[in-house]
Amino acid sequence: MQFGNFNINLFLGLLCAVGMCIYATDDVQWITKVRAAGTSHTLVPVLVIGSGPAGLSAALYTARDMIYTVVLTGNEPGGQLLGAKRVENIPGIAPDAGYKIMDSLRAQTASFGVQFLDDTLKNIIRSEDGAYFVVQTGGGTTINALSVVIATGASALTLGVPGEQLYANRGVYTCAVCECRFMKDKEVVVIGGGDASIEAVMHLAPYAKQVTLLVRKDRMRAALSMQEKLAGYKNVAIKYQSELLEVLGDGQEVTQVRVRDAGTGLESNLMVQAVFECIGHAPNSAPFTSLIEIDAQGYIQLEGRLQRTSCPGIFAAGDVADATYRQAGVAAGDGIKAGLDAIAYLRCKGFSESIAVDLKTSYLSA
Ligand code: NDP
Repeated sequence: MQFGNFNINLFLGLLCAVGMCIYATDDVQWITKVRAAGTSHTLVPVLVIGSGPAGLSAALYTARDMIYTVVLTGNEPGGQLLGAKRVENIPGIAPDAGYKIMDSLRAQTASFGVQFLDDTLKNIIRSEDGAYFVVQTGGGTTINALSVVIATGASALTLGVPGEQLYANRGVYTCAVCECRFMKDKEVVVIGGGDASIEAVMHLAPYAKQVTLLVRKDRMRAALSMQEKLAGYKNVAIKYQSELLEVLGDGQEVTQVRVRDAGTGLESNLMVQAVFECIGHAPNSAPFTSLIEIDAQGYIQLEGRLQRTSCPGIFAAGDVADATYRQAGVAAGDGIKAGLDAIAYLRCKGFSESIAVDLKTSYLSA
């Protein structure tokens, strides 16, 4: 990889050669084990799990560095961005529908030889000798990976009320930052009570005609300093002890919501054109809990500003490891870092052109 006169392969090679490898290395043993495994197993130098902006950006970088890379796409190839009607906040990318942006990123990634496996993750363990990871897919394929980038994202929690599915992404949303500009002069409700719901209100209020925050209890969980920020908005109302029961519409668009007052038990309808559910996220980290450190909220823990997890050879990027930003552009940047970290790991372990050539016959061919 060339940056002006700077060649990253040469740089990493030099680091390893002079013994400055940032990863603990047991090169000779590792290479011997990998070569042995390659004669009888399917081996993949980099396996990316997840195909959102983080996963595809990681794969783009590893494949562009001539390291054979497989992306296990998961249930929803393209990730959370697929549902976004118009994405206009990724630097350098012209505003477009989320699925078009992801199609274009997938094509760009594929142009560097990345292989896509449209399948799900069933199980991942370390091989008995510790040299690689054994991944089983829902479709019954076994992939042995020398390094893994986890980019499985996070799923926004939803209420599960009637009408929610019918109007998903056409009136019912989970990302206010993504949709706020399309709420001009609309009446909207935000469901929540945590910090994220307040941020959502602040993103929406400059555009919407009226924003009503529905809080299920008689108080909010959000920090007081966050709650105080809402005081300055004339078009924001807060309804406590209010539960959303149903999203109603004309079959195409949302027109109102049915709400229950938990204090009185009375039900009423609010005329709104959009609903934002901000009731938390669940990172998709469950399959990895026995291999790497996960925090109390389920997010994968990383080492400082690196994308390294607590298990050497496993890296993570995007929403599965990011409780704070949850933006496509940030995920893509993290993916690039994870790809570079995986390259550095493999190079430091002793992965070279000659090993790549020797292993080629064991690469996965779907
Ligand atoms: P939180 O878990 O903090 O809050 C979720 C909110 O949704 C709670 O008020 C909860 O109510 C409510 N809720 C949950 N389930 C339902 C339901 N079925 N019906 C109605 N309401 C429901 O999640 P956030 O996404 O807000 O924040 C996640 C983390 O990120 C937090 O640590 C937060 O501090 C942090 N964050 C920080 C920001 C900042 O500092 N600027 C911005 C955004 C997030 P209840 O209280 O009754 O359980």
